[in-house]
Order: sequence, then C-alpha cells, then structure tokens
Amino acid sequence: MNKYQQLLLQRSIDTISRWKTKSYVENKELYRFFHSLKGTAASIELFEITNEAEIILEQLDETDGKVWTCEEWGMLMQDLFPLLNTSKTQAEEVYAATTNSHEQDSSLILLVDDDIDMVTSLKKELEKQGYLVLPALTAEKALKIYYDQKPDCVILGVHLPDRSGLDLLQLIVNKSYHSFTPVILIGTDPNREIRIKAYERGASDFIEKPIEINEFLARVKNRMYQKELIHNAILIDELTETFNRKFFTMEMDRQLQEYKRSKVPFSIVLIDLDHFKKINDTYGHITGDEVLRSLSMFMKENKRHADFFIRYGGEEFILLLPQTKKDQAKIVTQRLLKGFSKQSFWSNDERFQVTFSAGITEIADDKLTAEEYINQADQALYQIKEKGRNGVAVYNAQHKAQSVEKIVRIGVIDDDEIVRDVVTQQLNKLSLLDYMIDIQAYREGESFLQSDWHKQNGKFLIILDGVLPRMDGLEVLQKIRQHSNEKNVMVLMLTGRKTERDIVKALELGADDYLTKPFSVAELKARVRRLLLRMV
Ligand code: GH3
Ligand code: MG
Ligand code: MG
Repeated sequence: MNKYQQLLLQRSIDTISRWKTKSYVENKELYRFFHSLKGTAASIELFEITNEAEIILEQLDETDGKVWTCEEWGMLMQDLFPLLNTSKTQAEEVYAATTNSHEQDSSLILLVDDDIDMVTSLKKELEKQGYLVLPALTAEKALKIYYDQKPDCVILGVHLPDRSGLDLLQLIVNKSYHSFTPVILIGTDPNREIRIKAYERGASDFIEKPIEINEFLARVKNRMYQKELIHNAILIDELTETFNRKFFTMEMDRQLQEYKRSKVPFSIVLIDLDHFKKINDTYGHITGDEVLRSLSMFMKENKRHADFFIRYGGEEFILLLPQTKKDQAKIVTQRLLKGFSKQSFWSNDERFQVTFSAGITEIADDKLTAEEYINQADQALYQIKEKGRNGVAVYNAQHKAQSVEKIVRIGVIDDDEIVRDVVTQQLNKLSLLDYMIDIQAYREGESFLQSDWHKQNGKFLIILDGVLPRMDGLEVLQKIRQHSNEKNVMVLMLTGRKTERDIVKALELGADDYLTKPFSVAELKARVRRLLLRMV
C-alpha cells in the first residue's frame, strides 16, 4: 500500500474517531465525507472503497437536514469498516502500473458539437482508443482550438449555436486543405442536400446520427491513417508555399553530411513571429494567415538563392544558410528583419506592422544531432523574446551556462490534500522536452488568485477542481479567463458530479478540457503531458 492510500485510510479513521466522540453527526457532514472519499479513493486506485462510498451516498440526500446518531451512521457504513482496516497488497501493484504508463504523444481530435451528451460520450470512446480529444461547444471556441492546437482530425456537428456547422466547416476546410486534416461531419439530417453540400465544401466524411460507435471509430481511424500517409509524402507547406518541416529534417541531414565532408560551417536561424496570437485576436485568423504568407513571400524574394526558407510549424520558420558562419548569418537576418518589419498590413482600415525574433546557431562541428542544434537556436531565440522581441541573437556556449530556463507552470487547485499531493508528486516526474516544470498547489481559489505566482508571464496549465470551498471552481475559472495572460493559460477542469450541466458550464466559461472524477492519476498525468506538449 502506498503512502497516499495509507494517508487516506488514516484520515478516514481519524474522522470516524472524531465522530465517535460526538453525540450526533450532521447529515451535511456525512454527505461531504463520503462524497470526497468516493472521489479521492478512486484517484488513488482504492476502488472498493469508492464503490462502497457510492452505495452509501445513494442512501443519503444532500439537502436533508437530518442528524445521525452514532448507532445510525455506524449501521450506514458497516460494510466500509473492514475496507478501511485492511491493507491492500493488490493496490500496490495497480499503483506501480500507473506511474510509468502512457508517455507517448497521441493524435489530437477536435470534437465540436452543441449536443453535450454526444460530445461527452464520443470523447470517452475516442479517448479509450488513445486519442486526445478537445471538446468545443461553439464554432468560435472550435476555431480557436483549431489554430492554437493544430488537431489531426476534426469531428464536427452540423448544428452549432453561434455559426452553422457548414459555415464553420468552410473556414476549417479551407485551412485543413493545406494540412490534409480530415474533417468528419455528424448530422441527424437524413437530407441528402446537406450531405452533398458538405462533401462539396470539402468534408472528408459524413456520419449520420444515431452513431454506431464501432463503425464510427473505424471511420475516424481510417481517415487519420490517410492523413498520416499524405503527410509523410509531402514536402511543401500549402498555406505558405514554402518547404515544410519534413523537408527540413531531410535537408538538415544532407547539410550535416556535407559539413562532415567539407568542414565548412553553416547556420540555422529559427524565426518566430512576435505576439502573433494578438494579431490573430485583433484582426482575425484569416489576416493572421495572410501575415504568414507575406512573411514567406518576403523571405523568398530577399534571401540568397542558395538559402532555404522553411515553415517549421505554426508561426515558426527556419532559414537554413549553407556555408554561412554565424556572424554573417546575423547580418543577413537583421537585414531581413528590418525589411520585413517595415511592411504594412491592412485589416479593414487599420494599418499594422509585424516583427519577429530570431535565434541563430552555427554548425561548426558534427558532435550534435539536428534536434540539438535546433535547441541551441531556440535558446538564443528565447533570450531575445525575454529581452523584448524584435531582434536577433546568436547562440554561444555562454548561453548554455546562463541557460535561460524554459519553464511551463502547472497550478493544481483542489481542496483535497491527498489529491493535491498525489497529483503534484506525480506531475513532478513528468519529463517534457527541455522544459522545466514548476508546480504549485492551492487548496482554494482565493489563495491561488491572490498569489503572485499566476501573474507571471509564460505558459500555464491549471488543473482546477470544480467543487471548492467558498469560491466555486467555476468562479475561479471565470476569474482566470479575465486575466491578461489568459491566452497562455489552459484550464483542465475536474468535474466531480455526474450531471453534464457542469461540464457544459465549464466549457462555456472557457475550460479547455475536463476530466470526470473519479479519475486515475495515470490518466491525469497522460492528459497533462499531451496538453503541455501541444502547448509549448
Ligand atoms: P511570442 O511573441 O512570445 O512568440 O508570442 P506569440 O503570441 O507569437 O506566442 P505563441 O508562439 O505562443 O503563439 C503562436 C500562435 O500562432 C498561436 C496560434 O494561434 C497561432 N498560429 C499557429 N499557426 C497558425 C496559422 O496557421 N494561422 C494563424 N492565423 N495562426 C496560427
Ligand atoms: Mg511560437
Ligand atoms: Mg510567436
């Protein structure tokens, strides 16, 4: 039996001993105790206790004002006593199994529909298959996730509250067309017209409700596989018409070989647009796309003929400069930055300008892998971002010594001490590329909101319990969403209750994902890792 299981048993026994000293226990207190016991026990794999707590809860009415005598509550929980006193060897095995499973990155599905029953049940089924599923109840949210997270597949209900599924389809399809992301429509409409329209606009598939789950899963898998095949075959990014990441990997390999032969150094420049999220937010994603295209056009026109310009991902690009030392690379990049930042963009009648930051590294030995060189360029880039952006930095060994730490922050807000401890301890073991993980735990929303910790810049993932003392989880969520850095904050909501109203509410108020209690720590850990990988 592990530490947390022992702790929970001990805590329960303490509570019961305390009750024994009282002449009666209020119904409210009993209810709260079993409710919390049920959730916590499941999180740390004490399933028998969870089951028993659930049975007891069914006999309690939350709103009842009754008081329970010692004899009465003793009767109520007589089947629980033996469970609290036994030590479970089997639990240890389960726990060991949970600590090191599920570390791989899985495909991401964006699931959009306003029918929450369908969203929750499909999400559950898809996640059983190992996919990570982000839910969206509105077109607006879907679009945001689409741009921020780059899903591998979109499943889209035809009817949405804020924009019809078909209109959203149009926007997403235009975009997915460039990345070959399958868009699967779901609709109740037996109407052939809608289906035809959907296919005409570029949907990959149309699945009719009611959904037969096995067929549905097979069709999704099929589409994803096709995307993968195409993805592996292309070298050009269709949006910007520049080379893509896959090309980069191949070319970098070639250049490294060339270096081994000739010993002539070359450089790579990692370019990241400044405050690009803000551009999207202020002028819309379509204008954002235009900026990406313009940058590419500008670079292709102004780089030297032998240089390669590559879209590395999202709004990150790479200039690969053969036979170029770092000082020369810096001059070239500065010239390009100066030229590009002079360009004007228009959105309606508003004029704006865009800058980028760049990190350079020179390849003058063959000791490191392509990935490690990128990492060096990224460290230099990170320094420029820290200094205020719109600039160029060259990586040098000193950078490594000073090594700006790349940090992602995880906040855990849960009033249950054991959940807080287990989650913190487990997430501390996560490894996430070269990021350091800073975890802070809070027992309620107020202390979280009052602390300076969450006011720092940078990327955050907040794991937020839905039911908290005093300030409710949903209220905390609302406050988080009002904060100026909210764009860089993902919120994973822990919903304890069975009712789907809470899930809807959480999603409406801006939660990015949810996990229903009871969940296992392994499940949480896997989910957090996948969310973070998509975020950094
Ligand atoms: P920073 O100066 O620190 O780089 O800030 P930033 O806002 O650029 O931050 P970050 O790199 O985290 O944001 C990248 C954003 O780029 C997030 C995503 O919505 C947007 N994005 C990624 N791909 C595309 C795309 O193809 N089109 C558009 N319009 N936006 C994209
Ligand atoms: Mg970026
Ligand atoms: Mg950026």
